[in-house]
Amino acid sequence: METPAFLDRDRPDVPNLVVPGGVTPFYLQGSPVRGRLVRLGVLADVLLTRHDNPAPITRLAGKALALVAALASALKFHGSFSLQIKGDGPVSMLVADCTDTGALRFYVRTDEDALNALLAETPKPTDRELLGNGYLALTIDQGAETERHQGIVDIAGDDLSSMATHYFATSEQHACWLYLTCQLTDAGWRAGGLVLERIAGEGGTHVVGAETDDASWETATILASTLSAREVLDDTLAPSDLLYRLFHEEGLHVSQPRALAYGCRCSRARLVEVLHGFPEEDLDHMMQDDGQIVMTCEFCNHDFRFPRKEVAGRTQ
Ligand SMILES: [Zn+2]
Repeated sequence: METPAFLDRDRPDVPNLVVPGGVTPFYLQGSPVRGRLVRLGVLADVLLTRHDNPAPITRLAGKALALVAALASALKFHGSFSLQIKGDGPVSMLVADCTDTGALRFYVRTDEDALNALLAETPKPTDRELLGNGYLALTIDQGAETERHQGIVDIAGDDLSSMATHYFATSEQHACWLYLTCQLTDAGWRAGGLVLERIAGEGGTHVVGAETDDASWETATILASTLSAREVLDDTLAPSDLLYRLFHEEGLHVSQPRALAYGCRCSRARLVEVLHGFPEEDLDHMMQDDGQIVMTCEFCNHDFRFPRKEVAGRTQ
């Protein structure tokens, strides 16, 4: 017997992929610096190619995934950490989120005409040209019973790294240095990045004067700036080797790596609950000629089909 839709908690036919060393945290002993190197590996290709987006959108989405992975892994929370950008450009909405276990997902909403017009004029638009003016929000959602923590800033700067740096400077008020990249390589799409955070005190266990701290922070950011996209996206270069290349003279301590995974949480059961919230009349409207209602998960682009006659609408 087939499982009725409202009991069907199965994931759709999407990859069950885990990248064990997706995030490598580290700190610099004796400096007010901690950071994370993020590398999505094959996960980038799997997540990004579920959507038929033009390359500039895919690059932006890949960087957004690397960003949420880098930021979420620095926080203690249970739930999801999300980035939401809403602007007046061809990309009207970008959402990427990462759970406390490293499960990643994203979606992008675009105005196709505006996007085609921009790409005709500027084949390689900046993130800013894609997004336009608007706001960027970072939210921690730990479930219905708890308060959501949200910070919002205006979109500022040309690329996603600058937008996030601006967020930290104005909303969190601590210095943050970010590098994000996403490119189509011989192995498929790859995305990753490096985040440095200036923390109160020190990455290791000693206390020095503010001037020394300023100098250590500056040294760390200068060294980090020498990083290339090729190094970040090269699967064959071990994360610890790459970090050693950059920071071996700065008291580098590499911590336990953390996994990243394919993270859509959609299921037939969840969508049936959504459909139950609609009046019968609306459900009739949604029904296609074949008697089915099709709901597409925006995150993984998977179509769920429900026979109209099996879906009951809102009762009042
Ligand atoms: Zn999904």
